[in-house]
Amino acid sequence: MRDIEYYRTRPKIDAHNHLNLGMRYASFLSWSGKPIPNFPRKMNGLDEMHDVIGKYTRPRCHTQEDVVALIDMSVKDAIADGVTVLEGSIDIGFMVHYQGNSDAFLKMVSNFVSSYSKKIRIKPELGLGKTFDKAKITQWAPILMESGVFTSIDLYGPEIEDGIEDFKEIFKLAERLGIKKRAHVGEFSDARSVRRFVEFFDLHEVQHGIGAAGDESVLRFLADRKVRCNVCPQSNYMLGAVKSLEAHPIKAMLDAGVPVTVGTDDLLFFNRSVAEQIFDLVSLGVITETDADKLLAEGI
Ligand SMILES: [Zn+2]
Repeated sequence: MRDIEYYRTRPKIDAHNHLNLGMRYASFLSWSGKPIPNFPRKMNGLDEMHDVIGKYTRPRCHTQEDVVALIDMSVKDAIADGVTVLEGSIDIGFMVHYQGNSDAFLKMVSNFVSSYSKKIRIKPELGLGKTFDKAKITQWAPILMESGVFTSIDLYGPEIEDGIEDFKEIFKLAERLGIKKRAHVGEFSDARSVRRFVEFFDLHEVQHGIGAAGDESVLRFLADRKVRCNVCPQSNYMLGAVKSLEAHPIKAMLDAGVPVTVGTDDLLFFNRSVAEQIFDLVSLGVITETDADKLLAEGI
């Protein structure tokens, strides 16, 4: 039986990491100075999580220095886990702290890529929140995408189809620019919605996608199209999307031939790194060591 060090020392990807929430709670607390009560804890879905974000994390971020500090903590904690490729999401909303100055924002992002290049390969992702100001997204997203700094985009927010038409043009632009297209779907939503999002946006990858496991034909569809799912078992457990890690459908996804990686989602909230989660899954008998090696090899 391999120990945790085996997984920590293997090169690996974290392809599902929101860099504003990607650090350990200890890192966050030493910076913020304001404890989050009874934390990290199991939560009742995304509403409770957004409650904590609204009360404790978002109000702590005021300045460009704060943005840099948050991302920096996340990168350092990824390096500590032995992550070698970090496809980390940077929310377009951070542009507010740059007064909409895209040059300054892009310079900040590029600085991370270059200053950490010897330790970790950072592939910045532009995160698009469905609930963020649509006018600002329409204005800023094309400029940011055309800069060449971002290697992927990710759409997240309520997993409903209402309003997804508003983002169609941005995904078409991503296609023209050769930017990888991702969206959050199938975290709480079903297999049909996963298929629908993949087809509507012509997604390369899905963030979560575990709902697909409810329908074998959708798993086959993902496998045939080689749509990678960047799943986050600990996040799914802590938010109640699955009852337990043992009940997580990652094995069914792997066995169906769907490309899968394990990501942290929000390390601040879920507190299990990529290495730790793969170790947990093997220890609990959810996946085999061969599956673990497949997960580690994906995306690097
Ligand atoms: Zn996520």
